[in-house]
Amino acid sequence: MANLETAWHEAEERLEGSLPASKKQWFDRISYKGIEDGMIVLSLSSDFFKDNAEKSCGDEIRNTIEAIAGEKIGVRFIVDSDSKPSVRKKAPARTQKAQEAVPASRNTTLNKAYSFDNFIAGDNSIFAFNAAKVIAQNPGLSYNPCLIYGGVGLGKTHLLQSIGNYIDEHNPKMKIIYVTAESFTNEFISSLSANQTSSFKSKYRNVDVLLIDDIHFLQKKDQTQEELFHTFNELYDNHKQIVLTCDRPITELTDITDRLKTRFRKGLTVDLQPPAYETRVAIAMQKCREKDYQIDSKVLEYICQNIDTNIRDLEGALTTLSSFASLVGKPITIEIAKEQLKNFIVAPAIRNNDITIDMIIRKTADYFNVTDYDIKGKSRNKNIILARHISIFLSSKLTSYSLSEIGKAMNGKDHTTIMHSVDRIKSLLETDESVKTAVSAIEDELTGF
Ligand code: ADP
Ligand code: MG
Repeated sequence: MANLETAWHEAEERLEGSLPASKKQWFDRISYKGIEDGMIVLSLSSDFFKDNAEKSCGDEIRNTIEAIAGEKIGVRFIVDSDSKPSVRKKAPARTQKAQEAVPASRNTTLNKAYSFDNFIAGDNSIFAFNAAKVIAQNPGLSYNPCLIYGGVGLGKTHLLQSIGNYIDEHNPKMKIIYVTAESFTNEFISSLSANQTSSFKSKYRNVDVLLIDDIHFLQKKDQTQEELFHTFNELYDNHKQIVLTCDRPITELTDITDRLKTRFRKGLTVDLQPPAYETRVAIAMQKCREKDYQIDSKVLEYICQNIDTNIRDLEGALTTLSSFASLVGKPITIEIAKEQLKNFIVAPAIRNNDITIDMIIRKTADYFNVTDYDIKGKSRNKNIILARHISIFLSSKLTSYSLSEIGKAMNGKDHTTIMHSVDRIKSLLETDESVKTAVSAIEDELTGF
């Protein structure tokens, strides 16, 4: 029988260089454990990683080992919380170094940091991702125009830039312009005031690929829309590729002429949805690898469970934690993550509007050892006044009730009284440790954090 350990290391090396990013992120978590009963045993630090690694690259691993060993070899995946995959990874900052080595693009409007390779496609984005790739491989010949729409931070710019970078690499002769609708507008305005509209027109009408980001910005910009309409027609008639992004479906755009909307919708429209939990974890891991952040998998899972709005927030959270870790020189625990990410993480109880004003009054009363009636009443006792201010502050922070509605729930106080309480606690939070402790203890009780 072949030397199984050698076979594994050779397979590891081959797969290292050939697996796509979407699989490699799981592959990179695998450690070699040893040989047991003639099987290669590979370990991962949690069930989550084991399931994903096995599902995404188990077949490749088995096939590669079979090709190397010349016979079928069993491979078993196990969970071992001591598993340390980072030891296996060779050059941690490889992506970054590779990027530094890439010569500057001839198309200076493109940002080389965005590519299909570092885009993680999940169920939420696979359609848009595949369409973008087809377009990049056949510019002007497949879907034209293509419109990618989706909320903030979901990867529109990333995909648009990836199309440009791919074409730039594979069709070096093609002229590509990436521009935001805002820059397009500003440039057009400058050309008008400098009497140079003809050079503006010729710049944009002589490209092979025009990538315009965030076209919702064109709302109410009538003259720019007019200009874009003619640019669009010229490019379209000459089979030049146009790709646009927008933060909402075209039908929901207002103050954009119908004829331009019709043009935008002429080809393929694809959308980007918020990613599911597993995709968020995959993306977070990819970002940590790219930026060489050392964040424990349990903390990553915590972040991804709690930040489900968009990838930009997810990245912001990772950057915050990693900067904090390097400043204080200690690893990030879940407790530290909770504390540091207060601005990013909205407790599910708040998001779901589960917290009521009565619940807030109840918990605050308990904390201060007073009654609900005291809080809603008129007593001028110092302790009760503070409890009252805090209930009001938390009601405005943790519920979606308006100031007047909070006032009504507080036995008919008017909204200026409510505003005064909120301001009072805001300023005490800056200066008074005991108020800070009280607010955060009551808040934690209510949100379950
Ligand atoms: P948008 O243009 O939709 O507001 P961006 O393309 O700027 O969003 O994405 C925000 C950040 O999230 C970028 O750093 C981008 O690289 C990253 N990002 C978004 N989606 C993905 C994804 N599927 N895979 C990897 N990174 C992503
Ligand atoms: Mg964008």
